[in-house]
Amino acid sequence: MAGNIGIATGVFWNEYGEECIDKLAKIGYNALDFSMFTDGHKRLKIFDESLSDEERYFSSVKNRADGNGVTIAQTHLSFPIDYDTDRERRAIVDKLLPELDASLILGAPYVVIHPSRKLSGLGNFAEGVENYGKIITAVNEHIKGTNLQVCVENIPIYNKYKYCRVQGACTRADDLIKYVGKFGVGACLDTGHSHLVGENPAYVARKLGKNLKVMHINDNYGIDDDHIMPYTGGINWSQLATALKEIGYKGDYCAEIDGLLSRIKRTDREFMFDVASTNCKLLKKFREEVEG
Ligand SMILES: [Zn+2]
Repeated sequence: MAGNIGIATGVFWNEYGEECIDKLAKIGYNALDFSMFTDGHKRLKIFDESLSDEERYFSSVKNRADGNGVTIAQTHLSFPIDYDTDRERRAIVDKLLPELDASLILGAPYVVIHPSRKLSGLGNFAEGVENYGKIITAVNEHIKGTNLQVCVENIPIYNKYKYCRVQGACTRADDLIKYVGKFGVGACLDTGHSHLVGENPAYVARKLGKNLKVMHINDNYGIDDDHIMPYTGGINWSQLATALKEIGYKGDYCAEIDGLLSRIKRTDREFMFDVASTNCKLLKKFREEVEG
């Protein structure tokens, strides 16, 4: 069966809420990467409401998606989740648990969690690994026995010039593999992030093999985390397609192009759907390269 074609909800949700599902379905998407945050990485306001309100809200989203023949292929928990003390960690976990419950209501098979680091000394690799591990352990405990699986994502750590050449707690293929082995999680390949740290996403995909479960498909020029459409930056998409074919990738094709969308919406928010429509065609072309 062909992988689904999806897109991250973040910026759309900010502007349209649930209605964006109808509009995205109409232009050809049959999957969503549901973000637990909107524009500017602000956590969804619904999480300030009562548990029953949250349940109603996410059941309604699920119904709307079902009605449009759209599947929630993956969810994305809010961030940042960096901390120093145990107390801060508990507060973060308390925030993440309702987002996991929401992911379960949405019927998502995968949930992506950004790496967690030390708030002080962000570049300390060992402490970053330890912090992220503790968050993953707590999350895994909460969803034990469900069909939801945690995926760790490769994230570049910026230096002050916004260049992404500093190794973080989960930046490169070798880092991802460590978490997969240690915590039994899957991996989310953010193609743009790999490109930023100078690793060809094709190389990362081969390293991950069957552990590659989901993707954040996006492109950039190797300088900043632009999150633009595939085939419009510096990534060699044919090489990635070949690698995915080789490892027998069976997942979906979800784009994360919020960077581009948040820029285009300043002109006219409806233009976001023009971009999304072109993006949908590009994702289908890419899928054809992988699966055809
Ligand atoms: Zn990403």
